[in-house]
Amino acid sequence: MQASDVMSSPPPGLALLTTQSSLRAQAPPISAGPVDAAAIEDLVAGSRILADQGVLDASGHVSMRHPQNPNRYLMSRAQAPALVTAEDIMEFDLDSNPVDRRDREIFAERFIHGEIYKVRPDVRAVIHTHSPAVIPFGVTQVPLKPVHQSGGFLVAGVPIFEIRSAVPGQTGMLVRNAALGNALAEALADKAVVLMRGHGNAVVGPDLRTAVRRAVSTEVNARLLTIALQIGGPINYLSAEEAAAMEALAAATYSRAWELWKKKAMRSE
Ligand SMILES: [Zn+2]
Repeated sequence: MQASDVMSSPPPGLALLTTQSSLRAQAPPISAGPVDAAAIEDLVAGSRILADQGVLDASGHVSMRHPQNPNRYLMSRAQAPALVTAEDIMEFDLDSNPVDRRDREIFAERFIHGEIYKVRPDVRAVIHTHSPAVIPFGVTQVPLKPVHQSGGFLVAGVPIFEIRSAVPGQTGMLVRNAALGNALAEALADKAVVLMRGHGNAVVGPDLRTAVRRAVSTEVNARLLTIALQIGGPINYLSAEEAAAMEALAAATYSRAWELWKKKAMRSE
């Protein structure tokens, strides 16, 4: 008997098991249950704010871990961030399979979110942007270090994800599968931001509002550092002590900025 014959004729019991497991593989994940409207409102506001602040354009996405189940996350269907509403929010498992897809279009790069949630239990929100001012720092040798009081969290370091060497045979730029998402999560390591060469960044936080603040501040710091480099001469960066102090202050006074940004971003409602 050839090996191929064995493979094509499994015993009846094994055949049943194979059928059951392939059915299980195709079944969508089970929902972790309804989410508080205030949490969904924050998620929607986060998308709108990042669009309003010039961090997100027609693409890019914001997610939060499901409040009741760390193995699920919530993210908009594929939709321009400025147009996201509560009705667009979908639930995914950490393999980035939608719980209830219906006929909705989903983001090809959702694996950024699922794979970071898998390896960073401390992270409760993930943002992927094409934040324009950060791009030069992913394609040059100049490190993105804090030059402004809003960028204290950057003092821990900002790694660069090189997709070309992430997975053998890789030719595209998008993080469109779990292997690439995992490679990006490894590049992020324990940091708050990872730059994606020629593409954008991924920003994480212990909660949604903090992740939004970091995404805005990363863009602001990149813009200001670029200006400083153009003026020329040595750059006087924030010291580690200054960075820590300003990060604590930024966190403590942030509700003021959040309310302002949210009001501006939601004014078309
Ligand atoms: Zn992208």
